[in-house]
Amino acid sequence: MNAPDQPFALDAAVIAAADRLEPKVIAWRRDLHQNPELGNRELRTSKVIADHLRSLKVIEVREKIAHTGVIGILKGGLPGPVVALRADIDALPVEEQVDVPFRSRVKTEWNGVQCGVMHACGHDAHTAILMGVAEVLAGLRDRIRGTVKFLFQPAEEGAPEGEEGGAQLMIKEQALKNPDVGAIFGLHVTSNIHTGNVGYRVGPMMASSDTWKVFLRGTQTHGAMPWRGIDPIVVGAQVVLGLQTIVSRRLDITKEPSVVTVGMFQGGNRDNIIPDDVTMVGTIRSFDEEQRNQIHAHVKHITEMIAAAGGAKARVEIRRGYDVTVNHPELTEWAIPTIARIAGDGRVGVIDKVCGAEDFSFFQKEVPGLFYRLGCTPPSKAILDSAPGHSPRFYLDEDCLKLGVKTQCALALDWLQANRPGP
Ligand SMILES: [Zn+2]
Ligand SMILES: [Zn+2]
Repeated sequence: MNAPDQPFALDAAVIAAADRLEPKVIAWRRDLHQNPELGNRELRTSKVIADHLRSLKVIEVREKIAHTGVIGILKGGLPGPVVALRADIDALPVEEQVDVPFRSRVKTEWNGVQCGVMHACGHDAHTAILMGVAEVLAGLRDRIRGTVKFLFQPAEEGAPEGEEGGAQLMIKEQALKNPDVGAIFGLHVTSNIHTGNVGYRVGPMMASSDTWKVFLRGTQTHGAMPWRGIDPIVVGAQVVLGLQTIVSRRLDITKEPSVVTVGMFQGGNRDNIIPDDVTMVGTIRSFDEEQRNQIHAHVKHITEMIAAAGGAKARVEIRRGYDVTVNHPELTEWAIPTIARIAGDGRVGVIDKVCGAEDFSFFQKEVPGLFYRLGCTPPSKAILDSAPGHSPRFYLDEDCLKLGVKTQCALALDWLQANRPGP
């Protein structure tokens, strides 16, 4: 990558514009917060986004990408490469408990069950930030070397059952093509960091997330005469314990951490019947593709062998979910000085790995990408007292929004400048 020839020439303009836009970004965030929509159902949200992008006059707007996604394309006044900025736009089936005037009271149905809807993961903030970035950069269009692609992505939290969605579907629908993207930047708010600060990691930052299901079949019999059947509950209990040995005894824990959780165990319907079947469901988290595959093999092998030892039959299904979110090492090392320049001295730090998963990981498999965390807990509040994302008490300090606008603008501009064609 080239060194910038006009170091940070646009910083002052970006900072002034972001400060001026702050009330608008906050208003957008509140409007989205009060009107949250679940994955693949973000109809109002995408209209708000598309209307805003169109109002800026210089952005080409593509709608209905991956159902409800929106792509904005801003061609700068000078020739150059293409950088993408991504915001996820969906909310969660969570009933809000935060007492703010713009609290969500929306109710809907998720996979057939009635639920409240809340922006409990802060995607309202991500959307408002990227709308702000689009406005700032539209104002600097003549001085931009290349093209900025704004990806407003639906269904990061997962599509409804039986539907495709999210980053994978956007990629399938050519979101990174025409014009072809050279690098991508994304951010996520977090209650683990105070407002004004940014966290990142080089390499694996968030886990892969896979779902496993085990179906155990025994032979139903009277609870008083267990010898007349095969008890899948006892077999299942041994499987639960067997799975604990994967992380503790089979994986090289000096390499990366991982998790195997049993989240559901169902079988039987009364005290004196040993049932035919037991169903178990759980999640697997990993930070390394090889270990991830090893875990899958162990889950299958341990379950099948324990079942065979107990005379039962086992069927194991593993559904691969999101991949490991891996920050491109070179791009990350290059980008951190830009973020630090904007956030200020001592405001950017390396954070611990996160066992949650992100579908930003799929963009990073296509092009070099950096995903970083933007602190959103007010400085007056202790981190341990702040509710995490997905909690009905998740609270976002809106002071964090303008820093997000500035860092995303600066990353895009610096990257275009550093990767411009020619000497
Ligand atoms: Zn989330
Ligand atoms: Zn999220």
